[in-house]
Amino acid sequence: MKAIVDKDLCSGCELCTELCPEVFEMGDDDKAFAKIDPVPPDNEDTCREAAEQCPTEAIHIED
Ligand code: SF4
Repeated sequence: MKAIVDKDLCSGCELCTELCPEVFEMGDDDKAFAKIDPVPPDNEDTCREAAEQCPTEAIHIED
């Protein structure tokens, strides 16, 4: 599984980095990015939750 953040959509709210810090990190541009690829199996559930809860739907998941 792969997580991709669309930086044009990301508002920098930091929700994903709170929900799934193993995968998401805030960059110097105050936008989130996925720091690990592929997503480790143990982090898939929280990664999907972050994608579902992202207020701007900026996180895309590829299985
Ligand atoms: S939850 Fe969405 S909008 Fe918020 S920082 Fe993460 S990718 Fe950006």
